Amino acid sequence: MSQRLRLAIQSSGRLSDSTSDLLSACGIRVNKPDRKLRMVSDHFDLEVLFVRDDDIPNYVADGVADAGVVGENVVLEKNRPVRQLDRLGFAGCRLSIALPKADKYDSIQDLNGRHIATSYPGLLGRYLEKHGVDASIHMISGSVEIAPGIGLADGICDIVSSGSTLISNGLKEVEVILRSEAVLIASESLSEEKQDLLDRLRFRIQSVLTAKKHRYILMNVPNAAIDKVIDILPGMKAPTVMPLATEGWSSVHSVIPENAFWDVIESLKEAGAEGMLVVPIEKMVL
Ligand code: ATP
Ligand code: ZN
Repeated sequence: MSQRLRLAIQSSGRLSDSTSDLLSACGIRVNKPDRKLRMVSDHFDLEVLFVRDDDIPNYVADGVADAGVVGENVVLEKNRPVRQLDRLGFAGCRLSIALPKADKYDSIQDLNGRHIATSYPGLLGRYLEKHGVDASIHMISGSVEIAPGIGLADGICDIVSSGSTLISNGLKEVEVILRSEAVLIASESLSEEKQDLLDRLRFRIQSVLTAKKHRYILMNVPNAAIDKVIDILPGMKAPTVMPLATEGWSSVHSVIPENAFWDVIESLKEAGAEGMLVVPIEKMVL
């Protein structure tokens, strides 16, 4: 029987929808069966385990799963022997230290002697040690942001995305310990067959992620302006130029980085380009 790659993903939470979407764009449909922890994929030799995100580095390190999708913050906090492979472009956040708004803060040395509440004692401890700060760490597993308000700690170290939770609790962000996003991790030792499956999965993931970062752009250009337009386009290779039915005009097609369009649109118009279309790309293999 051929081996299947066992991939651990979060069963429900901030990572689950984006993880399913990514796998589905890779041709692997993931529908969590009711109350089940395991699902076998139809189109790829893959078995998906639905688990708590905090357990994923442990499962991968212990060989219960071969690979996993989890926040980098959790991977680094658990500090288990796993390979961290690809950043996946979702669940972006940072791990930060925050203090009450009115507190004086000039440098990290102002944290000396403070009590800091966190669910990330490992990452916080290493960061403080690296900076030679002597502060005490209070491990709490949830609602960390209310700790200073109720007198449990002087400050906190927690995940921040927009910062609005900090503000509504009267806190200010003073140190960013880590900028995190979802990552693909894998076991340090896999059979050749499983490593092969992992490589195939990574190839698909890369095609999807690269496609997301690019757009396909089409426009009509008077033939006299083609050279100028080509100079403006930040393309990967020379664009495609095809004659239009209207004499003296061509259609120019190119692939450009996702965010480049707004930078070049005015120059393209000035050069004489008309009827521009920008379309998303589904998969891209370089
Ligand atoms: P639990 O394990 O109790 O389900 P959790 O906080 O570990 O809760 P989620 O809230 O689903 O799980 O977060 C999963 C991951 O999503 C985090 O580890 C982090 O990498 C990422 N993330 C992105 N933005 C945020 C945010 N605003 N708050 C918390 N996590 C965030
Ligand atoms: Zn969790």
